[in-house]
This record gives sequence, structure tokens and C-alpha cells, in this order.
Amino acid sequence: MAEDCIFCKIAKGDIPSSKVYEDEKMIAFKDLAPAAPVHVLLVPKTHAQDVTEAAPELVAYMLSKVKEIAASLGVAEKGFRLVINTGDEGGQTVKHLHIHLIGGKALGWPPC
Ligand code: 5GP
Ligand code: ZN
Repeated sequence: MAEDCIFCKIAKGDIPSSKVYEDEKMIAFKDLAPAAPVHVLLVPKTHAQDVTEAAPELVAYMLSKVKEIAASLGVAEKGFRLVINTGDEGGQTVKHLHIHLIGGKALGWPPC
């Protein structure tokens, strides 16, 4: 656990969150400021600053759970978007790897 990392604290249960999924390696919880009707964050329990710093096996593991989590949120059929903001210009505000899973409405493209 990294000191002062909000997602480490959420993963540990020290800060409450609206959990939608949890296992020994990761947690998924509702984003505090949802960008769409469905907006959850998939977060590994071990700290990695971003996707370039995380073990590829861990990222693959998180992706392997997307179908199940999307189905539980009711968006597996209609579709959804995964986003991994990376670094300052990538819009990453929390420096602990997380995958946004966004859906529940038709999403625009490009996103910026
Ligand atoms: P980023 O901009 O780093 O890709 O995404 C960080 C996300 O974390 C933002 O969408 C923001 O709303 C969300 N967030 C920040 N702090 C908290 C928190 O304490 N709880 C929850 N549930 N979401 C948070
Ligand atoms: Zn962390």
C-alpha cells in the first residue's frame, strides 16, 4: 500500500466505496462523479502508478473480469467503454492504476 493513495485505502476498506465486485486481486466500485449512468472503476489491490508500471498479467487478469462485471451492471449486451487514463496529459488524476468501465447510454466519439 502506498502512503496517501486514495485507491489503496479504498481497496483496503479504510475508505468506504460502493463496491460492485471484489476478489483477492482487485476491486470494482462506483465512480464518485459518474460520467454516465454506469461508471465503475476497476482497481488492483496492489499499488501500481499506472498501466505502464503494472504487471501485464495483472492487467490481463482485470480485463478477464470485465465481461462478468459488465453483465452484473446490465451493460454487457448493449456495450460499454473501457478507459485507462495515463499520466497528466492523459487525464489521470489518481495515480493508482484503474480502468474506467462506462456505459448505460450511447457514448460519443472521439472523447475529446
Ligand atoms: P482518472 O481521472 O484518474 O482517470 O480517474 C479518477 C476517477 O476517480 C475520477 O473519475 C473520480 O471521479 C474518481 N474518484 C476520485 N476519488 C474518488 C473516491 O474517493 N471515491 C470514488 N468512488 N471515486 C473517486
Ligand atoms: Zn495505491
